[in-house]
Amino acid sequence: MVDKRIVVISGPCSAESEEQLIQTATEINKTGKVDILRAGIWKPRTRPDNFEGVGYKGLFWLDKVKEQTGLLTTVEVATPVHIENCLRHQVDILWIGARTASNPFSVQELAEALKGIEIPVLVKNPLNPDIGLWIGAIERIYNAGIKKVAAVHRGFYPFEETAFRNIPKWEIPIELKTRFHNLSILCDPSHIAGTTEFVHEIAQRALDLNMDGLMLEVHIDPKSALSDASQQLTPTELEELFKKLKFRDPISDDSDFRNHLEQYREQIDSLDAQMIELLAKRMNIAEQIGEYKSKNNVAILQLERWENILSTRTTLGRKLGLPKKFIKKLLQLIHKESITKQTEVMRKLNGKTN
Ligand code: PEP
Ligand code: MN
Repeated sequence: MVDKRIVVISGPCSAESEEQLIQTATEINKTGKVDILRAGIWKPRTRPDNFEGVGYKGLFWLDKVKEQTGLLTTVEVATPVHIENCLRHQVDILWIGARTASNPFSVQELAEALKGIEIPVLVKNPLNPDIGLWIGAIERIYNAGIKKVAAVHRGFYPFEETAFRNIPKWEIPIELKTRFHNLSILCDPSHIAGTTEFVHEIAQRALDLNMDGLMLEVHIDPKSALSDASQQLTPTELEELFKKLKFRDPISDDSDFRNHLEQYREQIDSLDAQMIELLAKRMNIAEQIGEYKSKNNVAILQLERWENILSTRTTLGRKLGLPKKFIKKLLQLIHKESITKQTEVMRKLNGKTN
């Protein structure tokens, strides 16, 4: 039995040919778990010489696939002309990509074009982790009169080192859910992962977080894909993914409580991970300082600087409701480790010059 309480969108990153689309859709459909076929027709690419999508003709292929498989279809739209073209065909759902969602002018133009039209719209998160920008894009679409709006979490531009293509800041979609209780939030593990090996882990995380659906990139022959080749699953891999994924327990009396608790815990996990990453960064800089001091023959401990750190940080902590004692203890621990690191660096460098 298909254990599925979520909506599943799947299909190639880009429509490339009629055969590729029909074959991919047919195989995807056989899994029995996919509701909506995705395919990029117009691709927002970083460089002008990258594959920019097949354009308008792809909509004829999608119509055909829809007729053959019965799957609903969704296409990315970035301009009012794209919307117009999709409406001329049988596209069921539109999606606004991360790059477009990052630009309020573009979103507003799309919103204007959507006025008086009834079609569900998915809004991916903007590239930067600015929840206000994401909320703004969603509001513009709601304000255009669109009733069925859903958000898609596809991660954020990797401004810091990460194994993923885009950083999943889970606390942001969670915060979005707390602001819009009735908004469905889907996750796009493919664009977060960037490579197929992480897709399962991220999809599971999304299910654990009680997200309402998944958008998964699948290609009949990923190696030959014209865009996002490394993150697209084969239809067989999609089938395997569904076997591995653990869906949440059926609703029970205290499910509300458990859902909320889980959401809080996920926020804590995400913030802890960020704290640890920040600590690692801080230690790295401490090592650089150690090297710099050593080269300039300056002592490691600078009392004035340490006193300044203690006083400014405890003041900031107090403003944010954190007790002075707690911040002081935490800083002492960090400072101690930082001194150790600097000492190690100095010893190493001295050893070299001796
Ligand atoms: C896509 O879904 O293929 C895509 C371009 O996604 P995003 O806008 O999330 O980068
Ligand atoms: Mn893609």
